[in-house]
Amino acid sequence: MRSRITDTKHDLQEIGEFGLIRRIRKWVISSDPALVQGIGDDVAVIDMGPTALLVTTDILIEDIHFHLSWIDPYPLGRKALAVNLSDIASMGGTPKYFLISIGLPKNLSLSFVSSFYRGLRKEAKQYQVELIGGDTSLSQKTVINICLLGAGRKRDLLYRRGARVGDDLFVSGTLGDAALGLKILQEKGKIKGAEGLVKRHLTPCPRVKLGQAIAKHHWATAMIDVSDGLLIDTSHLLEESGVGARIWEERVPLSGLYQKWIRSFSKDPFQLAFSGGEDYELLFTAPPRMRDRILSLAHAHKIPITRIGEILPWGTGLHIIRKDGSDYSPFRLGFEHFK
Ligand code: ADP
Ligand code: MG
Repeated sequence: MRSRITDTKHDLQEIGEFGLIRRIRKWVISSDPALVQGIGDDVAVIDMGPTALLVTTDILIEDIHFHLSWIDPYPLGRKALAVNLSDIASMGGTPKYFLISIGLPKNLSLSFVSSFYRGLRKEAKQYQVELIGGDTSLSQKTVINICLLGAGRKRDLLYRRGARVGDDLFVSGTLGDAALGLKILQEKGKIKGAEGLVKRHLTPCPRVKLGQAIAKHHWATAMIDVSDGLLIDTSHLLEESGVGARIWEERVPLSGLYQKWIRSFSKDPFQLAFSGGEDYELLFTAPPRMRDRILSLAHAHKIPITRIGEILPWGTGLHIIRKDGSDYSPFRLGFEHFK
């Protein structure tokens, strides 16, 4: 008889979202030769000849991912698509078609739904993607699930698993703005002078063009989008690549607005930049000889790209180096469902 190793953990709170995904991954190992990438990256990749089909899905649940008192239906429509676009961006792919399934309470106004779809259409037009179907159901809370399909040249695509020891670690844009914007909305509502931060939370800007450019040039080795927070998403990239890393705290790019407002909301000026989610920036690795080319790419796309760390051997884990040279391994990386 085949022996079974029993899982000693009993509930989802013990294992967290990522512990659950790790287990699901083991339960459903696929042997389909056309499946280049199944569970474990930002999108699934299916071999279709020289090009690959890219598939990703993300769910937004009322009172978990958004509160209707903080976000209007129009930006909600935009954001529901944007968070999926960001996953295709992280592979360097081109988004193409999407399906949307919605669960809605029966007393929801029709004008809410029409504004939501106007936002969705605006985002779809901007990124040249087409809505091709979906599903509709009654629900106690508003639930939105989008499945986005895209394409990419197989040889260009960037995975979480490609980082090598000695690579530089780069991030686009600035970090923590969206999380600080959300905190401001939660604690103070809309306050004058902080609109830019709130906007980063409500209408994220997926880096689709930048992701394609990074992938096309073959300068980078691995890429992920920063959706759950810098530390969590770095740890995903490290785990998939089988490496460790150090990040220099003072190099983490912070916007002027973030620096102006963070002290009013947190004792630790880096907390939200490290562990707050929804930045939708690109985090990627590349060998040091590519530094100048990558910085010129930033210039060409008018998007800052900052070298924030370097890749170390597996076993060293993730280290943060403080300004005074001391270092620590973060204990809690950031938000995780069920924990
Ligand atoms: P992202 O933050 O980039 O959207 P996730 O952390 O949500 O990525 O998912 C990581 C990987 O796990 C992806 O490959 C995703 O498709 C897969 N995944 C997440 N939830 C499930 C699930 N319930 N069943 C199967 N695969 C899942
Ligand atoms: Mg992602």
